[in-house]
Parts: sequence; C-alpha cells; structure tokens
Amino acid sequence: MISMRNFLMGTMAAALMVSCASGEALNVPKATYEECVYSGDRTEFAVWAPTAEAAQLRLYRSASDESAFQIVNMKLSKKEGLWKATVKEDLKGVFYTFQVQQNGQWLPETAGISAKAVGVNGWRGAVVDWDETDPEGWAEDRSPEIRPSDIIVYEMHHRDFSIHETSGVINKGKYLALTEEGTKNPDGLATGIDHLKEIGVTYVQLLPSTDYITVDETRLDTPQYNWGYDPFNYNAVEGSYSTDPYNPVTRIKEFKQMIQALHKAGFRVILDVVYNHTTDASKTGFERTMPGYFYRMRPDGTFFDGSGCGNETASEQEMFRKYIIESLEWWMKEYHIDGFRFDLMAIHDIDTMNEISERLHAIDPAVVIYGEGWAAQSPALPAEQIALKVNTHMLNKVGAFSDNIRDAVRGPLGCENAGFMDGVAGNKENVQFGIAGGVEHPQVTVEPWTNNPLQHVSYVSCHDDHCLRDRLEEATKASEKERLNMVKLAQTAVYTSQGIPFIFTGEELYRHKQGVKNSYCSPDSINAIDWTYKTKYNDLVRYYAELAAIRHAHPGFCLGDAALVREKLEFIDVDDPCVVAFRINGLEGIDSAKSLTVLLNGSKKPVAVSIPEGQYVVLAQNGQADADGLSAYTGNAIIAGSTSATILAEM
Ligand code: CA
Repeated sequence: MISMRNFLMGTMAAALMVSCASGEALNVPKATYEECVYSGDRTEFAVWAPTAEAAQLRLYRSASDESAFQIVNMKLSKKEGLWKATVKEDLKGVFYTFQVQQNGQWLPETAGISAKAVGVNGWRGAVVDWDETDPEGWAEDRSPEIRPSDIIVYEMHHRDFSIHETSGVINKGKYLALTEEGTKNPDGLATGIDHLKEIGVTYVQLLPSTDYITVDETRLDTPQYNWGYDPFNYNAVEGSYSTDPYNPVTRIKEFKQMIQALHKAGFRVILDVVYNHTTDASKTGFERTMPGYFYRMRPDGTFFDGSGCGNETASEQEMFRKYIIESLEWWMKEYHIDGFRFDLMAIHDIDTMNEISERLHAIDPAVVIYGEGWAAQSPALPAEQIALKVNTHMLNKVGAFSDNIRDAVRGPLGCENAGFMDGVAGNKENVQFGIAGGVEHPQVTVEPWTNNPLQHVSYVSCHDDHCLRDRLEEATKASEKERLNMVKLAQTAVYTSQGIPFIFTGEELYRHKQGVKNSYCSPDSINAIDWTYKTKYNDLVRYYAELAAIRHAHPGFCLGDAALVREKLEFIDVDDPCVVAFRINGLEGIDSAKSLTVLLNGSKKPVAVSIPEGQYVVLAQNGQADADGLSAYTGNAIIAGSTSATILAEM
C-alpha cells in the first residue's frame, strides 16, 4: 500500500494520552464487544473507555441534524471498562454518537470504534434492524468449495472494474456491478462477472471496501477516486460504492447482494483489510474514546509511523487485538467473507496474526489469509516480533506476497531493465524460489521464508506501483509484440508456481495506468479498465484463460506441502542464466499426468533443453496455450522458444 501522505495529526493525543502507557492493566470486556444492539423495543449501547470520567450517548433523527433529540448519560461497568446505556423505545432509523470525557476534557463526538451501520460519510452510527439488511435468499448463501490447487486470486477495485463507458455495466463503480450478468463490451465480448468466469480466476480480492474517509459520500455526482487505504469505520461497509449512502441499510444489502452473486457464480471473496493504520487519528473513534491506547505512541505523545500514513496501530494492546479478531469474525459471519489480505501486515505482531489465523480457521477451515510482509517505514516493534515476510515461517497458515518472484521476473521498482522476462541475467535463483513456493528446496539457493508453498503469494503486479504494461514501457525498448510475449512468459511463471497465483485487474487485457505508479487518487482516465482492450488484446486474454485451465486441470502445480515439493519438483540444469526449467515428477494419484515439465525461456534466443524420453502433450508453446493440448510430442529434447514458456504433460 502506498496511499495517503501528509496527514495533519491532531495534537489532542499528546495532551490527553490515557495512562495505559504506564503499564497499568485496563479492564477489557470478556464477551464480544458490541456498541449498539437493537432488539425492537430496546437498544443497548456501550462504549469502551475504562479511564474516562464520563460518557454520553447522543441520539439524532438523521446523519446531519445539528442537534441531538436526546442525550443520555452512560454508566460505567468497571469490570469491563464499558460505559453503558439502554434506551427502552424503538430506535430503528435513529443515528447516534458517543462523547467521552478524559482528563477533564470532553473529546469530540464519535460513532465509536465498532459501528456496523453508519450514516453518510460515517460520522454517526445508525440503529438498524439487521433482518432488513439481508437480500432474498441470503440465508441460503454458501461459499463454493474450491480446492487449494484451484485458487487463483484476481485483485480488483470497484471503480476500475466497471466505471468505463465500455463496460456495458449499469451500476458502474458500484457493488451491484458484480451482480450483473450478460454485460458486454461494444464488440460483444463478455465484461464484468462473466469475464471473470471466462478467465478462470476463482477468488476475487476487493480493494478496501470497509468505510474509508477520502471519498465524500455526499458528492457522488462528482467523479472521485481513492484506493481506500484510509480506514475510518472498520466494521461498516463503504458508502460510495452503494447506490444510496444516506440510507444505512442500502450499502449493507447491496454489499451482500454482491457477495451472493459472486458465490453463486463460483467465486470466493477476499477482503483487503487495513488495520495497520487509520485515517487522521484525531478523527477516529480510537482517539475520541481512549487517546493514545490504540496506536503506538512515542514518549512525547507523537505517533510512530510504520505505515507512512501518519500513524500505526498497536496490535499488541489487548483491546486492539480483540478488536481486530472480532472485526474479522464479523465480516465472515455477517457478510460471508472467505479470506483476508492484510495491508502492511508487518505492522502487526506475530502473536496477533497467529491468533487471528486460529480463530478464523475455526469458523472456516478454508479461509485464506495473507498479507504484505513489510511496512512502509520501520515500525515501533523489533523485527523479530512482527509479521515480516522473512518471519512467515513463524506464522501458521498465513501467507505473504513474494517480492522475490515479482522483482526477479519483471525487475524491481525503478530498475532500468525488465528482469527475467526481458532476458536479463541474475534473476534465475529468485524465479526458482518462486516456482518452489518459497520453501526450502535442495536446488534453491535463496533463503526460504515459508513452511508451506501456500504461504507464498506469486505475482508480478498488483494495484501498487507500475502495472505490468507500464513496467515494460518504463524498462524496455522492445516492440509491443515482444512485450506481449514477455507478459505471457511472466504470467506462466506465476501460474506454474507452487504458491498462490495472484493477478491484478486488467493485466489480462494489457491494461495500463499511463505510467502512474501511485494511482491511489488518480482519476478514472488513469485507473478505469477500458473494455475495448478485451477485443484488441484478445489473444492475451485467451492465453490467461488457458493458463488458468491448465492449472485447474493439473493439481501437480500446487502440491500444497513443502516435503512434497522437495520430493517431486526438480529443476533441470540448463546452462543459460535466463532459462528456468523444471519437472514435477511422480504425480500418479495426484494429477492426470505422470509428470509436468515447464521451460521458462527469458532469453532472446531459442534454447534446446534435454528432458527424459517420454510421450508428452504440449499444453503451451511459443505464446500459445491450450489446456486440451496444442500438439503431441514424443522424444527427449525440446526447443524452448525465445521469450516464451513451454508446458508439457507426460501422459
Ligand atoms: Ca466512506
């Protein structure tokens, strides 16, 4: 994540930091933390602020009314640190805030830290009847069963995906876009959810869709854009992607309709979660209830800033750890979310990530959890305590993005060459590391950081930094035809890796972002997917679809176990720094093929590679791919074409 910069941090925290920093234990509720529980004729409110001197609940008729119609003094339940109030009337449709007094000063109003339904722009909580938020058939919604070997993640932003005039989508830029079937580009080719089915991806990873602050939900008639890495209400749905952000029920219902449609179409859904930092802390419920508790603070009252966004949260604090876990449980139980991508995961401590994994796997053993194993700047905690990529082996069923394979295949950020795919030597070891899924392997020289290949997220581009096409335009003088060959080669490395393949929206359409690296608030002209590219680059789209089909047909590409990878994956010795060749052997009982052979040739010349004598089906060769086979081959030597991938299945 590279997104928000230059937040003006309030000075409030320095003046009012609560005494928890002194090491004094604070009482924390044992039960799940709930701030607003509606049950028809009564609503129970609570806010956690054990050090506060007083707390009030304010009730409003709307999200924007100037004055409260009722103010209720809350009472402290010391054992839990909770200020509580019960209102014995039907409050459905009412909005609320809390106000807390610390060190003799009333802090600004807040919707709390845990609001699940909110008014426009998220400044006030909303009392809703949760039964009314379920679309028809929601009780029957089930996540499809997907084998680990069939996981292919597609990362998308709601607005990028459907806002362009060529998308053929009615609800452009909205959650509902993903519920529309039969949408087409001007040439009649499938767009939207139908396109996702066509290209064989199985997990949709949504960029932040929990309430964030920078897009003004009251001005949606004006085009606005943000990736959403400026979180505000972690348990509420973002309003700008709904058709009516003023109605607290609408966004919830439409978000559920989207999940339901994705599940029905055979996809699982991963939410991008950003617990590592918040938007301007002074605006949040955290600082407006317990200043200084939820963030890592320096002794002078300023914020540590491992996120590069002005603050970093404190997962080691008992109440914040509890908060993150319960928030994730909420998204799974209420919204049927199937996995999480942790932004700047290395801000979080290892113990918290492992506890998260344990609790979420108890709800769904198939839940997928991974994150960015880095921070933007040094976090406050020592390196051995945080979920850095190199510590992934200490995480249990939590993966990390592999910048090893990314940088080796395409060249690192700002590099003057495009790495392995452009025939540049020195990248072979890290490509092999990525193919092996980051586990210890006798032929891999790079230090392993996973215990299980499924902890290794294999990719060559995501929303951050240059997309693949822009990287090529920055780093090579090659023709478009040659660049398209490089893209195919790069993606074949990703799709034949023992890790989890991950692609970025529109890579398959050869999308670009006009060279903008950090497009977090760029206009649609930079970020929107132009669906006419599906026609123009249809050969590439079909290659992606066939690669996915090859992976689905051959579970040998995803053995799912480090010992099996060591036993069955063998790199073929080729005396060329730009050729990675490997076989996955002994696949009887695992795959329909006896063995799989892959030759990735980044060099500008064809290279002959010796393979064991056998009868093979050629699945990919010279920029073409077909899961049913392009041709048959019997023999013991194959020519790996320049800048291309070859895949053979031994039958
Ligand atoms: Ca918002």
